[in-house]
Amino acid sequence: ADCIVGGRRGTYEIAISRFEGGVTLTFSDLGELRSAYNALEQQKTELVIANRALEAQKAELAALAEEMRAARRALDEEMAQRVALEGELRRLASVDDLTGAINRRAFMEILQREVARSVRYGHPLSVITLDVDHFKRINDAYGHAVGDDVLRQVAGALVAAVRTGVDEVARVGGEEFAVILPETHMEGACILADRLRGLLAEIEIDASDPSLITASFGIATWDNRFETIETWLAGADAALYRAKQGGRDRIEMAALPPAASQSRAA
Ligand code: GH3
Ligand code: MG
Ligand code: MG
Repeated sequence: ADCIVGGRRGTYEIAISRFEGGVTLTFSDLGELRSAYNALEQQKTELVIANRALEAQKAELAALAEEMRAARRALDEEMAQRVALEGELRRLASVDDLTGAINRRAFMEILQREVARSVRYGHPLSVITLDVDHFKRINDAYGHAVGDDVLRQVAGALVAAVRTGVDEVARVGGEEFAVILPETHMEGACILADRLRGLLAEIEIDASDPSLITASFGIATWDNRFETIETWLAGADAALYRAKQGGRDRIEMAALPPAASQSRAA
């Protein structure tokens, strides 16, 4: 009801209740209640709007996180591809195209590693160098393509004869190969070289040609007296040269450089 309560005109709700034999009138100012209610409604609307903004932000953040995850996945994939590519490039850089054997560069790298290991642990280490005999004649008689095929067969025979994952077969020149033999003394290297001679003889140049593939071999076993890899390889090459001079299709061993104490005693 509209009335004046305590000097204030307003809209009041009047509640009547019994009280100790009489009645009590309670006046509630509906205007105040209404404005309080309106303020609450206003706050509620504001909260709904704020909540909507938060929800939108949350969705935006989730989308951003998903975007970042996708970018991360793409990056990981690219990294993996790059690592694989690098490995492949490294492999290609160390492999001879024609035969699939390792090339001279990789041969020298592995030789350095193996000599260092041999020096440190005192383990034996041998190298065989071999040069196909009269290879020029094969090219001249049958052409370069047949020559190439013979080189592939030579490499294949060498790889098949050595210990996988231990020995290394390299093509160090046109028709010149080398085999690195860790944990191998001169005697073992000679036995292997002799076996390689037999295997090369089985290679067929041409169905009509009964002549055999032969090679000349030089063997050198590491000894600290060689002092450098170059001196050591020169020893193997000198032995190979002696094999050529001695009539080809043979194996020669590198002589050890004289020991300092022995040369003084001599
Ligand atoms: P020797 O017994 O003295 O070693 O005689 P050789 O004929 O084997 O040696 P020489 O050095 O005179 O000739 C090597 C030949 O190898 C000449 C060269 O054209 C050939 N050659 C080198 N690289 C390749 C190659 O990749 N493919 C082919 N088909 N021939 C090659
Ligand atoms: Mg040669
Ligand atoms: Mg030759």
